[in-house]
Amino acid sequence: MFPFMIKCDAYQQMVTYCQSQIPFEACGILSGINQVVTTTWCLPNAERSPYRYSIALPFINQTFSSIKQKGEQFLGIFHSHPTAPPDPSPEDIRNANYPEATYVIVSLLTYPPQTGCFQILHHQSFKKQLVVVP
Ligand SMILES: [Zn+2]
Repeated sequence: MFPFMIKCDAYQQMVTYCQSQIPFEACGILSGINQVVTTTWCLPNAERSPYRYSIALPFINQTFSSIKQKGEQFLGIFHSHPTAPPDPSPEDIRNANYPEATYVIVSLLTYPPQTGCFQILHHQSFKKQLVVVP
């Protein structure tokens, strides 16, 4: 599988947002051009929970139209694990509705935070490499 590439600024913004939402899980959408993430869309976690996340449909639709307006592609979904490693939970796998997306998990268990990157197809997760590009 191809590595998932994310611009340094977008990566920093994602991690900073995740840290700002402690003790709750943070979440959002990643978009970019030519398979490189250039924009992080920080969205509210509708669950306001340390263990779960969901993004309300109006926020998803609004973000998808903003992505289109920018001429970018929807590339991924991120969320944080405030106290767990960066691996998808059974619930993360069950609720993964976008087979074309890459799922990024930011673990705040360690400092600096660690990230895991996955494609989730047919209720199975496949680990991908995440590469931060300048
Ligand atoms: Zn999770």
